[in-house]
Amino acid sequence: MTKNYGDCFYCGGTTEEQAIPREVRWKGELFIFENVPMGVCTQCGEKVLKPEVAKAIDRILQEKKKPTRTIQVPVYHYESDVA
Ligand SMILES: [Zn+2]
Repeated sequence: MTKNYGDCFYCGGTTEEQAIPREVRWKGELFIFENVPMGVCTQCGEKVLKPEVAKAIDRILQEKKKPTRTIQVPVYHYESDVA
């Protein structure tokens, strides 16, 4: 797998690979993938996800693979909790 993400699509800066968490909504549910390899622009922070990585995430969701762990996510409703 190549680690070259090319220059940033937005600002032309250099991108470097980092393993960062990514939130994915799928069929109305929230899934969190940790340590996802993504290219991150060193100038503007824009993230680039490779097609094969996106496909691998889709495959895990479609196969309903058993997650490493499950966490509870607090949910706030803006109008009743903040305003
Ligand atoms: Zn950039």
